[in-house]
Amino acid sequence: MYWLCQQGMCDVTRQGGEALILVSSCLAGLKVRYDGTDCLDHKISQLIKAKKAMPVCPELLGGFSTPREPAEIVGGDGGDVLDGKAKVIGKSGEDVTDQYLKGARITLKKVMEANAKVVVLKENSPSCGSTMIYNGEFSGTKIAGNGVTAALLLRNGVQVLSEEQFLNHVDDII
Ligand code: SF4
Repeated sequence: MYWLCQQGMCDVTRQGGEALILVSSCLAGLKVRYDGTDCLDHKISQLIKAKKAMPVCPELLGGFSTPREPAEIVGGDGGDVLDGKAKVIGKSGEDVTDQYLKGARITLKKVMEANAKVVVLKENSPSCGSTMIYNGEFSGTKIAGNGVTAALLLRNGVQVLSEEQFLNHVDDII
């Protein structure tokens, strides 16, 4: 099956029934966010039900459970974390960088195993944000930058879209 996202956002080929699109689990309606909630998007949920997408939560893959303490990137963005120049810190001050790196590495492995060409990640998350993240002060202020998982996927040539970018084109795909 061949799908074409018009505007050149994605160009993917389905192989052997494998999922083409990986999506943040919280967008699929799974209650995996730090506070036990989800960010359900019905169109993304439809993709899961149609077996055209597969959910993934980098933070759970990194060893966290739900609920958990919120965390933000301090000293840069996800790329800086990969380079050892910034850290991911929990609200109480715990350094949780290693768990975020582990979750990013496992997510990349899953993306490669699924042969996914497009990954749709929840914006603003220290793992999944692809254009915006919080600024590390737990003040609700957002800055330009990506999360740790988004940064690792992008460095490995994976096409990463925020949910907004994806949903602007979803009718061309489903
Ligand atoms: S790590 Fe990503 S998928 Fe998991 S809850 Fe956070 S934003 Fe959602």
